[in-house]
Amino acid sequence: MALDAAAPAALSAKSLTKSYGTLQVLHDIDLEMAKGEFLVLVGPSGCGKSTLLNCIAGLEEITRGTLTIGGRDVTHEPPKDRDIAMVFQSYALYPTMSVGENIGFGMKIRRVPKAQAREKIEEVAKLLQIDHLLDRKPSQLSGGQRQRVAMGRALVRDPKLFLFDEPLSNLDAKLRVEMRAEIKRLHRTTGASIVYVTHDQIEAMTLASRIVVLKDGFVQQIGTPQEIYEQPANTFVADFMGSPP
Ligand code: ADP
Ligand code: MG
Repeated sequence: MALDAAAPAALSAKSLTKSYGTLQVLHDIDLEMAKGEFLVLVGPSGCGKSTLLNCIAGLEEITRGTLTIGGRDVTHEPPKDRDIAMVFQSYALYPTMSVGENIGFGMKIRRVPKAQAREKIEEVAKLLQIDHLLDRKPSQLSGGQRQRVAMGRALVRDPKLFLFDEPLSNLDAKLRVEMRAEIKRLHRTTGASIVYVTHDQIEAMTLASRIVVLKDGFVQQIGTPQEIYEQPANTFVADFMGSPP
């Protein structure tokens, strides 16, 4: 999948700052992300990854700065007008609905015609390799299959930008590795623009086209996995990413 340099930036943040009262959590974050990029935000617990993602989503209002998504200024737009889809670490599926109904729920709300919704659900389920599970209930699925359903709900929306907040951290190690490969394949086949949060360095190195390393709400370095690994900007990045001394 090639990046589209002529397309408007999938995401652009300028001097994005976020405070809770007197506690400043994000400090003048500048980010520019091309359409089709897989941007991974990585850093230790409490460094501001989720806050940054929530600011991009509009779930948190930013204190200062500007945000564009797909070239459009969304700084003051509510989440529903930002053309994003989010996948969280804990994802509540509707227990009484089938897998297909869970995936299609958002489309039902938006009154997408039934036949069109059905087609989209099948397309996405095939992509996620859960098309044989559409009539099951969530309780009849494994953890990995459930996480795929949660991703399916995001995928049917075809948003400008996907936001993932540690989507694999509730899965066991083996499944995590499998799902990592799955997400990578998904990105390759769809060409989606993705911002992905993790505290796991290996996950960041495996998935990212570019990595943003955060510490205490400050960007430490932005670069390709190779750049970050081979030319860490400071000792924090080197230690955190496990670069050779
Ligand atoms: P991460 O996702 O990297 O673990 P968070 O973005 O959740 O980090 O948190 C960053 C910092 O912001 C932490 O110090 C956290 O305590 C603080 N924080 C997050 N949400 C709130 C809130 N609603 N009110 C006050 N402080 C918050
Ligand atoms: Mg977090």
